[in-house]
Amino acid sequence: MAERILIIEDEDSIVQFLERGLIYEGYRVNVAKDGETGLAVARDNPPDLVILDWMLPGLDGLEVCQRLRAAGDVPILMLTAKDQVSDRVRGLDAGADDYLVKPFSFEELLARMRALFRRAAPAVPDVLRFADLRLDTGTHRAYRGDRVIDLTAKEYELLELFMQNPRQVLTRDLIFERVWGYDFGGESNIIEVYVRYLRQKTEEQGEPRLIHTVRGVGYVLRED
Ligand code: CA
Repeated sequence: MAERILIIEDEDSIVQFLERGLIYEGYRVNVAKDGETGLAVARDNPPDLVILDWMLPGLDGLEVCQRLRAAGDVPILMLTAKDQVSDRVRGLDAGADDYLVKPFSFEELLARMRALFRRAAPAVPDVLRFADLRLDTGTHRAYRGDRVIDLTAKEYELLELFMQNPRQVLTRDLIFERVWGYDFGGESNIIEVYVRYLRQKTEEQGEPRLIHTVRGVGYVLRED
């Protein structure tokens, strides 16, 4: 589902410029032309990001920013004609995540928005675990207990495949297709060779075997 953007801005020309551009980029857009309305819209249709003008009739942008921040952690991008350092600091103190000084280009707005979405994205669970094996899919490092296991790229891919499918028998064909693609002939004993490497490395300290052979079929990652 496309991200929902709430624009709180009283200047029609800027609202139109933003609304058209953001819809064209595939975002869902809500518009409020004053702070009170903006807060109400944010309550009724929680946005994924707020573009908030500083100078608004009634509640000003700083006040709206503080109230939005008190209610949650939605990313807030403030628009301002003021570009003095003290004003920026006040905005950041009020809980704004970033700033754009008018006039700004639409490309710059999009870039700032993307950066805020990246920051707001929940961290993807990036460690696979099975028994005392751990695989950090961010750094591509593997551990057995506290011990680091040095893996080549293919060994890593093979172990990752096992750890994504614990206790499931993986056929040779499936392993072949997922780890090697069709780079090798079907008669190759490459899988046997790499399973042997993985066993040597994961059982180096005499740890119990985790990668078991299922005769005539393939392999399975399981505890004894
Ligand atoms: Ca304004």
